Amino acid sequence: MSRSDLHLKRVFYDAFRQLSTTRKHFVPEVTAIEVKFYPYAGLHHTIRVRAGRVYVRISDLFSAAPPEVIRALAFLLVARLLSRKVPRLHERVYRAYAFSPEILRASDIARRQRGRKIISSARGRVYDLGRIFSRLNRRYFGGEIERPVLTWSQRRARSILGHHDGAHNTITISRVLDSADVPEWFVEYIVFHEMLHIKHPARIINGRRYYHSPSFRAEERSYPRYGQAQDWLDRVIRKSHELRARAA
Ligand SMILES: [Zn+2]
Repeated sequence: MSRSDLHLKRVFYDAFRQLSTTRKHFVPEVTAIEVKFYPYAGLHHTIRVRAGRVYVRISDLFSAAPPEVIRALAFLLVARLLSRKVPRLHERVYRAYAFSPEILRASDIARRQRGRKIISSARGRVYDLGRIFSRLNRRYFGGEIERPVLTWSQRRARSILGHHDGAHNTITISRVLDSADVPEWFVEYIVFHEMLHIKHPARIINGRRYYHSPSFRAEERSYPRYGQAQDWLDRVIRKSHELRARAA
């Protein structure tokens, strides 16, 4: 691929500049824009804002797209982010390429080949849940916890970082934690919490289900980095509120 990284950033920067018409809209610095091609299952692109930085992921099916198509896509994504109407011309250029037989065929193949792999993978881009589980199991549970299905979530949820589903014997960890910005000990803590759910099954008292019994809580507090993990939790939750406020 001959397109330079800086060129891609500038294309998105231009889209921001042209589509931001009121002071409410924001125009990020060129250097605060990150654009990557990503092997999504199927034709799919995303744009997100986090702490003033813009993260764009373009389907790798578009990695050989002509410059005017990338430009059209930049306008489409930025318009969506700013809740602006998409300029007609860009919509037309994008669709002509996205719905060409070549791209349609490639996206079909990608969906078939990648669709399933992505759903149930313990190995993320940064962290491997299988390794984290084994380490915690050895260190804190004497290896007694039977390994459940471990998987990263499909969505990058911030409100639910981890979930244990007893019926399906599955621990799901939010993909938002599979990031180099998140320290491994914090991911470990979230997995540890979910493992405690296996060790301390929910109890039903007077028809109500109690997930976090006193013994669950006591064992959780004994985790060496418990206090530090709580601080991080506060930060993650605060961030998600800021994000919602921005989107509203
Ligand atoms: Zn819990």
